[in-house]
Amino acid sequence: MIVSYSEQDNIDTTLLVQQFNIDERKRKELALEKDVITDPLTGLLNRRGLNNAVGQKDSFVIFYLDLDGFKLINDSLGHAVGDQVLQHLAAKLTGSELKHGLACRFGGDEFIWLVDEDKLTTSIEATANLLFQVMNEPFLDNEGRPIKISASVGIANYPADGNDFNELILKADAAMYLAKKQGKHRWVNYISGMENTLQRHSMLAQYLYKALDNNEFSLHYQPIINTKTNTVDSLEALLRWHNSEIGPVPADECIKVAEEIGVIVALEQWVIATAIADIKDFQKVFGNQIKVAINVSSHFLANSASIDFIVQQLAVNQQNISSINIELTESALLANLSHENNMAQQFNQQGIALSIDDFGTGFSSLAYLDQIPAKYIKIDRSFTNKIECDSTMLIGIQHLIQSLGFNTIVEGVETLQQAKILQEIGIELMQGYGLARPQPLSYYQQTCNLANLVLKI
Ligand code: C2E
Ligand code: MG
Ligand code: MG
Repeated sequence: MIVSYSEQDNIDTTLLVQQFNIDERKRKELALEKDVITDPLTGLLNRRGLNNAVGQKDSFVIFYLDLDGFKLINDSLGHAVGDQVLQHLAAKLTGSELKHGLACRFGGDEFIWLVDEDKLTTSIEATANLLFQVMNEPFLDNEGRPIKISASVGIANYPADGNDFNELILKADAAMYLAKKQGKHRWVNYISGMENTLQRHSMLAQYLYKALDNNEFSLHYQPIINTKTNTVDSLEALLRWHNSEIGPVPADECIKVAEEIGVIVALEQWVIATAIADIKDFQKVFGNQIKVAINVSSHFLANSASIDFIVQQLAVNQQNISSINIELTESALLANLSHENNMAQQFNQQGIALSIDDFGTGFSSLAYLDQIPAKYIKIDRSFTNKIECDSTMLIGIQHLIQSLGFNTIVEGVETLQQAKILQEIGIELMQGYGLARPQPLSYYQQTCNLANLVLKI
C-alpha cells in the first residue's frame, strides 16, 4: 500500500506500508514454546515447564512420585500399556480433586504434584492420603485388563527444606528413596539429613563397583560356641570391606548397597568361595568336624544356579557338604517359600544345613516355620540383651523352637551373666562378643591356646 501526503513545506513524502498476517507464525511460536515446556505423552508440564512455573512462588509443597514396579508393567504388558498408565496417572493428577495443584511429568515414571502452601486445604498427611486415594482408583487398560498403580512419594516443603527448587527436588527425592526402601507404596516427609544416606549410598556404590577387583574384601570369623562341651561348634563368616579412602564399611550397609547396584551375587560368590577355601585351615586348628556358617541374601536364593555354585566350590576344595551351614533371614526365606520345591527345600535335598538368622526381627508370622527345613534357628540379639531383666520371652521362643525340632543358637551374648541364664534355660549354642569376637583366619592360626577363645562359663 502506498500513501502520499503533503506536509507544511510542500515536500511530497511517500510512505510505503506493507501488511502481513502473522497469526500463523505466532501460533507456531506459541506451539513451539508450549512443546518446550510440555511432556508430549501426558500433556503435563515437563521439568522445564515446572521450573518456569515455580518461578516467583513464595511457599509451596512438592509431592515427588515414583511409580512402583513400572518396569515390570512395561516388560510384561508392553510399552503401549506403560504409556496408558502414565496418561491415566496424568489425568488423575489434573482431575477435579487435585486441580488446586500443579502436575508435572518429571522424568520416565516420575511425577511431581506441587501445591502452593496457601492452597493446601488440609494437612500434608491428609493431602498425601488424597493423592494415594486418587492414584489407587481402579483403572482398566485399552484391552480391559485391570491395572494397579502404585507409587512411592517423597514430600518436601519450600522454603523450609530447601533454598531453591533444585535443592528441594533433591530433598524430596531423598524422602522418596526412603519410601521405596521402607517397602514402597507409601509417602515419606523429608526430614533434615535424610539426603546424607542417599549421598553415602551413591558414594559407596561408586567404590563398591571396583572393590572386588581391588581385593578390598576380607572375611572375619566369629565362633559359635557349644557352652556345654566348651568347644567351637562352627564359625560364622562375616564380610569385611575396607577401602583406603572411605575406611571400613559395616557389613550390612555394604550388603544393602551391593543389592541396590546388582553386584550382590558376585560378592556372595566371592564370600562362598573364600569361606569354603578356608575350611581346610580351620580343620587344622579345630579338627575335621568344624563347620563354617555363610550368610546369603534373598538374591542368592532367587538364583537357581546358587546351589550348584556351592556344591562346585565344595568339590574343588574337597570338602564335605556337612562342613557348611547357610544362614538366611526370615524375610529372605519367606520371599522364596511360595513355590513348591523352593530353594530352601533344594538346599535340604542336597544335605546343606540351613539356619534362620536374626529370628524374631522379621514381620513374618509363625505359620511358615514348620514349612522350612532348617536345622538351626538363631535368636536375634535384641532378645538376648533383655534376659537379665526378664527371660520369659526367650524361654517361650526356645520352647517353640524345640517343639518344632530345630536347634537353637542365641546371638549377641555379651556378658557371662547372659550366658549363664541361657545355659539354665537349656540353650547350649551361643555367639557373641562376650564369648568371642569375629577375627580373621590368621588369628586362629596364630592362637596356640584355643582355650583362650572360649571363656569358661
Ligand atoms: P548376622 O548374620 O546376624 O551376623 C551377626 C552380626 O552381629 C555381626 O555383625 C557380628 O559382628 C555382630 N555381633 C556378634 N556378636 C555380637 C554381640 O555380642 N553384640 C553385638 N552388638 N553384635 C554382635 P556384622 O559382621 O557387622 O554383620 C552384620 C550383618 O551383615 C550380618 O548379621 C549379616 O546379616 C550381614 N552379613 C555379614 N556378612 C555377610 C555376607 O557375607 N553375606 C551376606 N549376605 N550378609 C552378610
Ligand atoms: Mg548370620
Ligand atoms: Mg544374626
